[in-house]
Amino acid sequence: MPRTVIRGGLVITAAEEMHADVLIEGEQVVALAATGSDVADGWTADRVIDATGQYVIPGGVDAHTHMQLPFGGTEASDTFETGTRAAAFGGTTTIVDFAVQSVGSSLRAGLDAWHAKAAGVCAIDYAFHMILGDVNESSLKEMDLLVGEGVTSFKLFMAYPGVFYSDDGQILRAMQRGADNGGLIMMHAENGIAIDVLVEQALAAGKTDPRYHGEVRRELLEAEATHRAIKLAQVAGSPLYVVHVSAASAVAELARARDEGLPVFGETCPQYLYLSTDNLAEPGFEGAKYVCSTPLRPREHQAALWRGLRTNDLQVVSTDHCPFCFTGQKDLGRGDFSKIPNGLPGVENRMDLLHQAVLDGHLTRRRWIEIACATPARMFGLYPRKGTVTPGADADLVVYDPTAVQTVSAATHHMNVDYSAYEGRQLTGRARTVLSRGTVVVDGDAYLGRAGHGRYQQRSTCQYL
Ligand SMILES: [Zn+2]
Repeated sequence: MPRTVIRGGLVITAAEEMHADVLIEGEQVVALAATGSDVADGWTADRVIDATGQYVIPGGVDAHTHMQLPFGGTEASDTFETGTRAAAFGGTTTIVDFAVQSVGSSLRAGLDAWHAKAAGVCAIDYAFHMILGDVNESSLKEMDLLVGEGVTSFKLFMAYPGVFYSDDGQILRAMQRGADNGGLIMMHAENGIAIDVLVEQALAAGKTDPRYHGEVRRELLEAEATHRAIKLAQVAGSPLYVVHVSAASAVAELARARDEGLPVFGETCPQYLYLSTDNLAEPGFEGAKYVCSTPLRPREHQAALWRGLRTNDLQVVSTDHCPFCFTGQKDLGRGDFSKIPNGLPGVENRMDLLHQAVLDGHLTRRRWIEIACATPARMFGLYPRKGTVTPGADADLVVYDPTAVQTVSAATHHMNVDYSAYEGRQLTGRARTVLSRGTVVVDGDAYLGRAGHGRYQQRSTCQYL
């Protein structure tokens, strides 16, 4: 088996930081030893990667992406091929995407369709959550089978009536089933029934600009849905993972429940940490670039999100990567904000935006790795194969240059979308060399990977309880 040694870097995991050399055999890490020690110096290898002055971190685990998602009359613009390649450039080596069960169809059919999209084209490893779009007797039974096949998390929507929406009875039944079979329920917590009333009223009043997307999706309706989801999970005796938390009051609901000892978890995304309703209000139709749900909130909410990440009331930062081009896709909502496809690109930017947060004093280095690599891997049953640097783990590793300065731009990013939500932003830190299961897939600006290197990952049940 080919042997690679990464020499001289500062290895950072969620638990520790150490100056160590990392020995890789084939696809796995087999040993770590202190840099300069006799053990490390005695290692011979086919390839030596010099990481002097660099960090050596586990590859990022992005637990929330939507490649090629059909939505709002169009389809997310990154394929599994382009999206996973972009992820690799950004230092992410595993994604967990969402297969969709549509109304009237089975979980199996949805999962098969997503396998067909991803098979043979991914640059990095991938796994699936399942969106429950039609909770009924047969789909509840199918949940058990999927858990057995390594699809161990199920997303429900309190938003989007007529599309993905589940009512409280359906939610309770799915949670009860999850409590039995070990499946983790993920929730899009916004009161979609109430939001649709406010959408209708806003449009009738001639309020059609993108910024009204943020106004009708009221913070109170995120907090209310978060509270209701927590109570339903409590009744069902199931854990709960709330996706893309954006409102301070929703964080407060999670914190209160956790203080009561309930197994509830929350994820936020870089867009809520760095962008705000100021972006939605950008002149012309520019605000459409920032339309996603839950929506961006006023800037004041960001402090509560950072605090939640520090206090572990929020455990994970994922991207909810769901790109739509400004020209030809976001366009669909000119004159009617409710027709703007919901979603932002970000899979390539997450690790760097969070490293910037380390430099800005929001997070420690280890917490950066915890929320971006280790906890998503544990939450979704991929640990310690993914999310850390340890003997036996997959050699998904990033040699990260903490001093490289970059300016984020659509002109240079690798995502298949014609704008960047972070255009012009200067960030310090960047992935230099990225390995996926021992293979160098990115080296500087060069892509050395291949479509189909990425392998489907069966997951165990949640390891974070
Ligand atoms: Zn999503």
